[in-house]
Amino acid sequence: MSVYAPPTTLSPSRIDSFLSCPLAFRFSSLDGLFDPPTEATVRGTMVHRTLEHFYAKPSTDRTEDSLRSSLDQMLEEFSDDADVLYLELTGDKFERLGSECNKLAFNTLKMEDPISVNPVGLEVRIEATFGGVTLRGIIDRLERNSDGQLVITDYKTGRAPSPSFEKKALAGVNFYALLCQREFSEDASELRLMYVKSSQTISARPTNKTISFVEQRLTAVHKAISQACETGQFATRKSALCNFCAFRTWCPEFGGDPQIALVEAPRRMSES
Ligand code: SF4
Repeated sequence: MSVYAPPTTLSPSRIDSFLSCPLAFRFSSLDGLFDPPTEATVRGTMVHRTLEHFYAKPSTDRTEDSLRSSLDQMLEEFSDDADVLYLELTGDKFERLGSECNKLAFNTLKMEDPISVNPVGLEVRIEATFGGVTLRGIIDRLERNSDGQLVITDYKTGRAPSPSFEKKALAGVNFYALLCQREFSEDASELRLMYVKSSQTISARPTNKTISFVEQRLTAVHKAISQACETGQFATRKSALCNFCAFRTWCPEFGGDPQIALVEAPRRMSES
């Protein structure tokens, strides 16, 4: 009998979480331990929401003034957001966060002409089943280019990767190309990662070979997760990400005991 029931649904971020560290994946996805938000994740969500409002407008209305009003709309929505309140980002801190979001959202105007963007969907929820697993994701912006071809755009508010890590950065968005092919029976002509902090865009053209590789990767990761669920053995993967890991206290790499996380974690988290 399996120690954990293997997940029947995966998303690109959960796949990335397992590949980054299987034990952290177990804590967050299987044990359901509280993985607290950070200021960076809240800022990212706020920028995404601003751009969602902005690109929902007719193209000729996408001016600097209307980007400001999209930002105001977002700030009103987030003023009592649970994560904002949890991190106590109120008062002056909320104002500072708003200015940072303003800067990041306005950087997109240096990266593209918003009038020329032709979205066919924003924050598009999409899923498809492959063998025993359903892959589910949310595409930030699905659009048609001037030739009528499908383009998948993903906003990033973190730092852009160095050229040697670009391929890895595109791994997540490649899953969306696979989903589009399966769900809409249409190949995306371009995958774009827009790094709004540094106004850089990384793009790639998916091919049948890359999409087939992504499908094989999905099957392989699901198999690895299922095996770990069966044995209960989730390896640690020590990296720079450990500095930001919410579960360090219970990680054997740092002298912790994963078995007591289920008892201790909720109490410690609610106290924090
Ligand atoms: S501290 Fe590092 S190795 Fe330990 S669970 Fe977190 S990410 Fe994994």
